[in-house]
Amino acid sequence: MKNIILLGATGSIGDSVLSVIKQNKNKLNLLGISFNSNIPKAKYIINEFRLKNVYSESDESHKSLKHAFKNNYELNILKDKSELEELLNEDDVDIIVSAISGFAGLESTIMAAKTGKTILLANKESIVAAGDVILPLAKKHSTEIVPIDSEHNAIFQCLGFDKKTDDVSKIVITASGGPFLNKKISQLSKVTKKEALSHPNWEMGAKISIDSASLVNKCLELIEARYLFDLDEKFFEIVVHPQSIIHSIVTYKDGSSICQMSNPDMRVPIAHALSVNDSRLNLDFSKIDFSSLSLTFQKIPEDRVQIFNIARYICNNRGSSGIIFNAANEIAVQSFLNEQITFDKIYEVIYRTFDTVSLSKSIDLETIYEIDNQTRIEAKKVVKSIS
Ligand code: NDP
Ligand code: MG
Repeated sequence: MKNIILLGATGSIGDSVLSVIKQNKNKLNLLGISFNSNIPKAKYIINEFRLKNVYSESDESHKSLKHAFKNNYELNILKDKSELEELLNEDDVDIIVSAISGFAGLESTIMAAKTGKTILLANKESIVAAGDVILPLAKKHSTEIVPIDSEHNAIFQCLGFDKKTDDVSKIVITASGGPFLNKKISQLSKVTKKEALSHPNWEMGAKISIDSASLVNKCLELIEARYLFDLDEKFFEIVVHPQSIIHSIVTYKDGSSICQMSNPDMRVPIAHALSVNDSRLNLDFSKIDFSSLSLTFQKIPEDRVQIFNIARYICNNRGSSGIIFNAANEIAVQSFLNEQITFDKIYEVIYRTFDTVSLSKSIDLETIYEIDNQTRIEAKKVVKSIS
């Protein structure tokens, strides 16, 4: 039995993880969760999984659970960061799923990196901002990081057992193109929030849905891949593949290309990651109908090349550049969702903020938070100037 702590349990990735656990109760056990504000969903999970541990920093969530479960003596309701850290380090914890959205997931991902357990990583923003801190920490503490972002999980599956990349000549990361496939940035000034949130293939949380629509998600994923597989950005090619069936392709130096395929369903990479180093799990997946399958591929649109060039610059220069890119994007996305800026201005907020905040070569835990904070202030100024 593998014991799991699910950070960000009330979100979209949380749902998929819970579904895989439910289908594999003989092998997987949910030991604890963290969440932020979705109290009804947290209550449902606590009851459904007879949970032993729940963590939320929010006063309201904590108070509400304390009241609702006052007679449940088996449930630990945690609020302090030190309690979360203690829980993650408990002997019987095997797997920690990092599925909080955005930079808010950094702190717990760093805690998890120090545990020596297996991290299932969904929270790409923490790697973009702090890959140079998290990966060395994980290495030092023998913490294994298994990606559940579908493209990265695909690469992980396509690499051999030892995960060595010595014989790799190229890796293709696919992008669906999102709801605005084949649309120019200049055509996106009037799109609504609803349109931007309606992804044609995947059901996801709001932030990543907007990132997918802008293709910034793929920029974050390029940086994530650069860190997770420790390969130069030149190895990675981004290709638009609207059907989202092939999630990544690894080409070896002898000419073989290996890909991972599945219908777009996050439970597939999650089921793989939950079974890592063990036999595969059962899943009620939807089968690909190969006889009627038609797969197409196209280049990244010309007017998105500029944003990908920034992502490639970040891969090469690292330091504070990923923190700035991530924070500028988070403010831009939030401002769009708050209807302060139009969709096309997301790019402008990122470009102008990235140009304004000065880059530093090296970062540590303290400076990450300072730079993130400073960038958010600058990005908000840009938003104000254009809204
Ligand atoms: P959601 O918005 O659906 O869920 C986010 C989760 O994080 C919720 O449990 C939420 O709690 C919690 N959370 C949000 N803010 C905070 C905070 N400040 N402190 C603590 N917890 C917080 O996001 P997704 O599940 O879509 O995405 C999660 C991560 O996985 C992201 O990094 C995303 O990029 C990545 N990912 C997602 C994919 C997907 O298909 N959804 C695919 C690949 C990667 P609450 O709801 O209680 O407020
Ligand atoms: Mg992805």
